[in-house]
Amino acid sequence: MTPKPTLPLVLSPGACIGIVGGGQLGRMLALAAAELGFQTHIFCPEENSPATQVATFSTQANYDDKSALDIFANNVDVVTYEFENIPVPTVAHIETIKPVLPSAKALEVAQDRWVEKNFMRDLDLGVADFHDITSGQDLRAALDATQGEGILKTRRFGYDGKGQWRLRADSDLDATMAELDGQPAILEALVPFEREISLLVARNPVGDTATYDALENVHKNHILHTSTLPATLTQPQAKAAQAMATKIANALDYVGVLAIECFVTPQGLLVNEIAPRVHNSGHLTQDACHCGQFEQHIRAIAGWPLGDASAHSQAVMTNLLGDESNDWQNWAAQDATYLHFYGKTEAKPGRKMAHVTRLTPR
Ligand code: AMP
Repeated sequence: MTPKPTLPLVLSPGACIGIVGGGQLGRMLALAAAELGFQTHIFCPEENSPATQVATFSTQANYDDKSALDIFANNVDVVTYEFENIPVPTVAHIETIKPVLPSAKALEVAQDRWVEKNFMRDLDLGVADFHDITSGQDLRAALDATQGEGILKTRRFGYDGKGQWRLRADSDLDATMAELDGQPAILEALVPFEREISLLVARNPVGDTATYDALENVHKNHILHTSTLPATLTQPQAKAAQAMATKIANALDYVGVLAIECFVTPQGLLVNEIAPRVHNSGHLTQDACHCGQFEQHIRAIAGWPLGDASAHSQAVMTNLLGDESNDWQNWAAQDATYLHFYGKTEAKPGRKMAHVTRLTPR
């Protein structure tokens, strides 16, 4: 058996970072990598993707195209990814040639809500009450256990509210089970949260960690609308949040930036889900923190010392979806306001086209 490739301790400027996925997160990672002198190589199936527009090299191929993956992996020094639904066999294949960071362990946890919730519970972290659902009978029993109200979520491939059904005991459960169509799922108790926050933590291969102040998130139609730094938290809550983020990153032996979405409740913080990547709610760190999440991720996977995650400003980030991005002249005319466009040509409704961050002094 060939030994698994190991990451050289530190990548120097000039090295090439492979990024799987071509969306806006890949684009902003590539831009940050370029600032540190790295080359980048994007692997994605789409033509003219947001990330390939700004990268040094790109490969346009499907995620199961082994010969394209081989060429890609052999031409880069380390590989990372910008979305968590990357097929695990793709990662496993690349891993036979080059190190992939964050490792497959983080993906396995993040890709399956059942595994994820159990992982958090095993770490003694709070999560909503949850139940495994494989039949209508399970669903009825679980709704009884959650006081007749809950959210049914597919275990895998859900995002932006897709693959979710808010249910009550009197909902048409047969119809829901038919829609679920045999996909494994969990029922979560409905959490009466005060606010939703996300935590970002970076960890490098020697185990140093850096945490950002918690961000407060507001969603519209299940899509992130605004993120605000800092979140409204008490001192003990803020401390607990940072400790929780570091605990999760250490338990995963994580390398890179990790995002953790949480509910703030009077009883404490509950983990909703994690994303093993840079995160939409962290976009404002580009402009509001000494070292933003994109540079931080590149530093971590390159084995560099982590940057300073502290904020020099307070900030609000607003996602510009679809036609909202047509209003760019208005945003561009405002002070302390930073526009970031993703290079997408078609402004479909609900599509993330750009974001804007407005700073206020701390
Ligand atoms: P998710 O796909 O798990 O991030 O869920 C999308 C959104 O649905 C979250 O940001 C919350 O606003 C809401 N949500 C998800 N799970 C729950 C829950 N157990 N209780 C209350 N609201 C939830």
